[in-house]
Amino acid sequence: MDFNDTPEEAAFRAEARAWLEANAAYKNPDAPGQDPLGERIDDATLRAAQAWQKKKADAGWACIRWPAEYGGRGATAIQGVIWGQEEAKFETPPNIFSIGHGMCGPTIMAHGTPEQKQKWLPRMLSGEDIWCQLFSEPSAGSDLAGLRMTAVRDGDDWVVNGQKIWTTGAQFCDWGIIVARHDPSAPKHAGLTFFVVDMRAPGTEIRPITQINGGQGFNEVFYTDVRIPDSYRLGEVGDGWRVAITTLMNERASIGGMTGGGGGIGDLLRLASDLEIEGAPAIEDRAVREKLAGFYVRSKGVELTGRRTLSALSQGKMPGPEASLMKLVATRLIQEIAEYAVEIQGAAGATTDAESTPQAGRWQERYLAIPGLRIAGGTDEVLRNIIAERVLRLPPEMRMDKDVAYKEVPTGPPNT
Ligand SMILES: Cc1cc2nc3c(=O)[nH]c(=O)nc-3n(C[C@H](O)[C@H](O)[C@H](O)COP(=O)(O)OP(=O)(O)OC[C@H]3O[C@@H](n4cnc5c(N)ncnc54)[C@H](O)[C@@H]3O)c2cc1C
Repeated sequence: MDFNDTPEEAAFRAEARAWLEANAAYKNPDAPGQDPLGERIDDATLRAAQAWQKKKADAGWACIRWPAEYGGRGATAIQGVIWGQEEAKFETPPNIFSIGHGMCGPTIMAHGTPEQKQKWLPRMLSGEDIWCQLFSEPSAGSDLAGLRMTAVRDGDDWVVNGQKIWTTGAQFCDWGIIVARHDPSAPKHAGLTFFVVDMRAPGTEIRPITQINGGQGFNEVFYTDVRIPDSYRLGEVGDGWRVAITTLMNERASIGGMTGGGGGIGDLLRLASDLEIEGAPAIEDRAVREKLAGFYVRSKGVELTGRRTLSALSQGKMPGPEASLMKLVATRLIQEIAEYAVEIQGAAGATTDAESTPQAGRWQERYLAIPGLRIAGGTDEVLRNIIAERVLRLPPEMRMDKDVAYKEVPTGPPNT
């Protein structure tokens, strides 16, 4: 492993930092943390996020790994990582484009026609259009291929009916990617087709879901006879599962990447220095120090695993199974750190008022939001199955419904 920038990487980092310094301010480490899952997006935040994205696009710093024909600069994977590391040091609006840029864009690039790519990618890159991912349903999350939404061909259109759920950002999105079942007589993976859908198409009803922290990060989306032109289909009819896998692979990589920053250990050390236990800084208390040391060691393990991936990327190699392991281990760690940060605040830990809580309530916010990271993009149990089967080569789980026609698989009553 070599953790140092090569001369080319160092030059690229300097160029990125110079642009950022000219266009944004460095983050204040004592300022309140950002809403970690983008759950409080009002109109002003939305406009600020779009303006920042447009500014980057105009200067050639948006989606830098994308080909130049869609507005990117064809950067390497390691340059993408370096840009992300540098941008993270600056005060910028929340990234409301991560699903579009991290999942929808790569899926369209891999499976779209030239016309589809030209229609959707440049406006997605510049932030003019915001995208969401409509996969999960009330009875299909981990078992996504068991989804029930129907798509019936009618002339040049498909008519879609059913319900999606947990759709992040649907309430402010322009476009979405959606998987529906066109053939219930085929086995569950084979009867699916993948589309791009206009989020304002007649028959679409979007209902935000209010979460425990008061945010509205995701939504229920109901489809009643929504028409999708066949020209919005990605891949062949019946190719939906293969196309969806492209999205899911990109999703895991992007969530794994989000969690690579040490889980907030730096903030926790600052908190323990500011708080007092029996008249002395908490960080001097032996029991607190033991806990902090444990978190620090585990954070270093996560950080070094992340660096191993970077080192592989820098040498032009494909990373191994670290991404699944990283997501499993890192999300658990950042949840435990947030729990401990709330615990050592004593009574103040039980309030969410930014004025009267240490570090402006950022830990309370994280404490309530982070459990979602252990579910989104593959739950802990599903990741363990993947690691068991693909890394440890243990015998696969029994899959009784794999080769059976979907309509013959016993299920509960329809979603209503
Ligand atoms: C913050 C957040 C954002 C999200 N955003 C989106 C989005 O934008 N678009 C979208 O489509 N979806 C989104 N989701 C939904 C997410 O993809 C699903 O929640 C996830 O796939 C799990 O599905 P489920 O909730 O239906 O749980 P289930 O699949 O019903 O799982 C319930 C429990 O059973 C366990 N389990 C399931 N199968 C197995 C198995 N084979 N072996 C062992 N245990 C198993 C799970 O681990 C879990 O503990 C989001 C979720 C969260 C938390």
